[in-house]
Amino acid sequence: MAPDDGAGPADYDGARYPDARPASGFAGVPDGFGRLWTPHRIAYIESGAPPSATGCVFCDAPARNDEDALIVHRGALAYALLNLFPYNRGHLLVCPYRHVAMYDEATPEETAEIAAITQTAMRVVVAVSHPHGFNIGMNQGAVAGAGISAHLHQHLVPRWAGDANFFPIIAETKAVPVLLGEARRLLAEAWPAT
Ligand SMILES: [Zn+2]
Repeated sequence: MAPDDGAGPADYDGARYPDARPASGFAGVPDGFGRLWTPHRIAYIESGAPPSATGCVFCDAPARNDEDALIVHRGALAYALLNLFPYNRGHLLVCPYRHVAMYDEATPEETAEIAAITQTAMRVVVAVSHPHGFNIGMNQGAVAGAGISAHLHQHLVPRWAGDANFFPIIAETKAVPVLLGEARRLLAEAWPAT
């Protein structure tokens, strides 16, 4: 290997990328870690949770347009949207429109539609992104892990072999390799017409 002359690798093209400089031009203390640069995430991190008009994001969402609210499908009594804080690509939430907290407060009609939307969502996610399995379920009450305990929502989390890594365990961070707007569009377009 040739000694580093500070000019960067042979394929470094200073003419095409005049703002690019080889890393050897910066000061720093190397360590054993790789770096994953995801600058597009800063908008998401800085924005935090969306402001709420009603005090409940799941009551607010249906009043917004599908793109802004990340809604994938609107049913008669329930709807499906992407989780703004996904565990995985295509992490969907299925909610009744009505503001009820607990599963046994949902009417039989709401329960049936939540179930039907969940089944359709499984088929749509399989068609779009080929997961190997799913976690499906509801956290009931803050003590059970519900982030928004006041409004019932069913999680549908696609799983791929090897998708769990050290990130969520040691850093409370999840790498999600697709932008939410793009994920919403793909799922909404694949949703069967009713
Ligand atoms: Zn609500």
